[in-house]
Amino acid sequence: MLDDFSLEQNIAYKTLVNSVKNNKLSHAFIIETNGYSKALDFAIAFSKYLFCPNDYSNNKNCGKCMQCTSIDKNEFIELKIINPDGQWIKKSQLEELQDEFSKKSIVGNKKVYIINKAEKLNVSSANSLLKFLEEPEEGIIAILITENLYQVLSTIVSRCQILSLKNKLNLTGLSTIEKIANYVSNNKDDIDEYAKNEENNLKLKSVLEFIKYYEENHTNTIIYINKLWHDHFKEKDDIYNAFKEMLLFYKDILNIKLGKKVEIFNDYIDVLKNIEEKNTLDSITSKINVIMNLREKIKFNVNPNMLMDKLIIELERCEDHD
Ligand SMILES: [Zn+2]
Repeated sequence: MLDDFSLEQNIAYKTLVNSVKNNKLSHAFIIETNGYSKALDFAIAFSKYLFCPNDYSNNKNCGKCMQCTSIDKNEFIELKIINPDGQWIKKSQLEELQDEFSKKSIVGNKKVYIINKAEKLNVSSANSLLKFLEEPEEGIIAILITENLYQVLSTIVSRCQILSLKNKLNLTGLSTIEKIANYVSNNKDDIDEYAKNEENNLKLKSVLEFIKYYEENHTNTIIYINKLWHDHFKEKDDIYNAFKEMLLFYKDILNIKLGKKVEIFNDYIDVLKNIEEKNTLDSITSKINVIMNLREKIKFNVNPNMLMDKLIIELERCEDHD
């Protein structure tokens, strides 16, 4: 039930429950999994919460009503789950959904559709979905689930409320690159492959070289940005992952500053400590914000040169100049 997620996914949980209680339910959500393996379960539990007449979320006795049981059997017609058909989610699947949902509701006044792996929408199915989202019908709620928010058409994302799930993984004992693999990939095979690929290790080293250089030389970094960055990161996916690594790195610097345990960069303690000494608590948290905000822009085809110049200039604004 939805309450099972109240601790593990406290932010997304509270957002949803409050929006129902306050009667401010969005008509479209996009769930960013961040590698969390139970994202679909979470979406289904949320749907049950919406449909169950016994308030499924906190009534431990439910799961027995008509709505709950038919959802469990995947027979509840007011809830439709769309998975990729082969490599892609096809336009015909969206058309079928629209056709079914255009009929009058039999049970209640709500209909929910879940699109699992929304990054697998191709151009025509994405456009078909977009039309559906642009003209929201009363009572129809969309829940999109994706591993990679930036692979979903930005015009779709902008019409959805974003719910970012937390990755609850036990990563103790793993090397830094293995831990990072868990953040960038979702299933076990992809994780293993990512961690074993030497190229990914080299990319991680380039990210660290960039940060080290920046922390020593500040805005002068712009002069050497080709050698430090653009020679290594050309594709949008690579740039996005590099920003993810940068974010995790500064979060670990924050951990040290707060006297907490290093989570990811246990193989690079000396680098972390060196940079931690150069930064105040304020400058670290502002840098984390800068990286997070710019990372969001990568989805929208931002020019890489401008992105990196902006990053350096904005990081420089976070420094304590006294
Ligand atoms: Zn129920």
